[in-house]
Amino acid sequence: MLRVDAFICLVQKKSFIKLYTCLSSPHEVDNRHMLLSTWKRKQNGFKILVACSAGPHPTANSYLSTGTNTEKESSAIDCGLEEFSWPSPNDEIPFWKKDFPLWDVSQEVFDDTEKDPDLMHIIHATAEMAPIAKVGGLGDVVTGLARACLLRGHKVDIMLPFYECIQKQQINGLELMTTYNSYHDGQWVPTNAYRGVVSGIPLILIEPSNHFFKGPAVYGGCYNELEAYLFFSRACLEWMQVTGTEPDIIHVHEWQTGALPLLYWDMYQCLSIKKPRLLLTVHNMEHYGECSKDQLSKCGLDGSLYATIDKAVDDRTIGHNPERLSLLKGGIVYSNAVVTVSPTYLKETLCSGWLASTLIRNRDKYHGILNGVDTAMWNPATDVFLPAKFHAENIEGKRICKHYVQRGLGLAPNGSLVGSCLSNDTNRVPLVICITRLVAQKGLHLISHAIKHIEELGGQMVILGKASDSRVEREFESLTNLHNQGTSVRILLTYSEELSHMLYAAADMVLVPSIYEPCGLSQMIGMRYGAFHL
Ligand code: ADP
Repeated sequence: MLRVDAFICLVQKKSFIKLYTCLSSPHEVDNRHMLLSTWKRKQNGFKILVACSAGPHPTANSYLSTGTNTEKESSAIDCGLEEFSWPSPNDEIPFWKKDFPLWDVSQEVFDDTEKDPDLMHIIHATAEMAPIAKVGGLGDVVTGLARACLLRGHKVDIMLPFYECIQKQQINGLELMTTYNSYHDGQWVPTNAYRGVVSGIPLILIEPSNHFFKGPAVYGGCYNELEAYLFFSRACLEWMQVTGTEPDIIHVHEWQTGALPLLYWDMYQCLSIKKPRLLLTVHNMEHYGECSKDQLSKCGLDGSLYATIDKAVDDRTIGHNPERLSLLKGGIVYSNAVVTVSPTYLKETLCSGWLASTLIRNRDKYHGILNGVDTAMWNPATDVFLPAKFHAENIEGKRICKHYVQRGLGLAPNGSLVGSCLSNDTNRVPLVICITRLVAQKGLHLISHAIKHIEELGGQMVILGKASDSRVEREFESLTNLHNQGTSVRILLTYSEELSHMLYAAADMVLVPSIYEPCGLSQMIGMRYGAFHL
């Protein structure tokens, strides 16, 4: 199972690098007018590119089964049960909140990766990055892809808002790099750009001097989120302009940075940034970045110019007063290439949803590349959050992780300690976990049904989830009061990266009850940690 997943990651990064290379070639389109008439273009190199990226590469197997990998992973296995301090639900500090060593996964990555011949500079502009500002899969994918490209020799930077809640202790060498002004709503806002490194990945943090990005969470702060991300999109380009930075590729993600391609082609390309090509990844079509013309105008563009079918008008509002815009649609139209997170989701999005007609018009630049997991960050053989490490050839550590989690959460443990080993009955009762954002898309009603069934069948279940909606939170709080008293179900309504790693390691099964799932990393991580997904 471990190998299957690492293979997925390999295909993902190769496909992206081919796409980046194709985009940065001198033959690619170099002005927005061609982008806007993209559906009229004859088939170009992209089709060929997609065909190349669809299949496994012959070197995949050798990459996955190198002796060095196995050697390093084996040496990490050391159960040491005699000195083990088993957690208890009565511990003053819960076991997942203890002090863990700072984890710089870049130290564990083997630098024997084959380097690419044509090296590029890629800048990601994103709202999330794991683990310092992560809410869901977007953060995981940005970090994993950035690391994969760095390992192949490319220069990569991630531009991220400097959220007040960002985990600063995980950023190495954080320092102020540039102070500049960026535009918002008729004013130039003094803005700081900091540089830092997060587990080997260079980071540029954009900090406006206004109230944007303040608050205890990545999303849902006391500021207008749409305007804050419009500001961020422009501030990224403004930083490139004032520092004379011209990457080959600017890779934007989701609606939050959907306006960046508009700003680039209609403003900054006319100023001094000429070189970059734009790539948009749509991780989930559920969020469109709905925006009024006036709101778009706050970033300095004339919002009314974008209210046309071939640009950014939200097709659902045509004929209504007022018509609205969609930053995601604008991003699709104005990017040189658009990627979504799996070939299946690509087909689904071409067949349903109001964006389908836009995607069909832009079909020749639209690709489905299957997501992968960051195999350095998600590695049960080296994971610092686990009480015991394990890998495909030695899963003893997994049984210890299960026992550890069961004891720490007050679930009835199946096994018992015999000397420094666990008895063989640790696996008798299956442990099902579900780690998810608690939103409708994730099949909330299915989770409550699953709890009942698993209890009836004599299994155990742990749910780790965070709701962004107070109604859903209340619903799950009552489930928590109902079930957390017993010894077979635990519902934890919080976000914890550390606990999530321990739960994947402890799990026999990972429940993924989504109503629809563009790709879903949770099941891939489950496979990597030796659990089935349902
Ligand atoms: P989505 O991107 O729709 O949120 P994915 O399954 O692709 O779903 O990715 C979810 C990621 O977020 C996984 O890494 C998962 O472990 C993590 N995650 C979700 N909820 C939590 C939580 N409450 N605590 C810790 N990690 C979480």
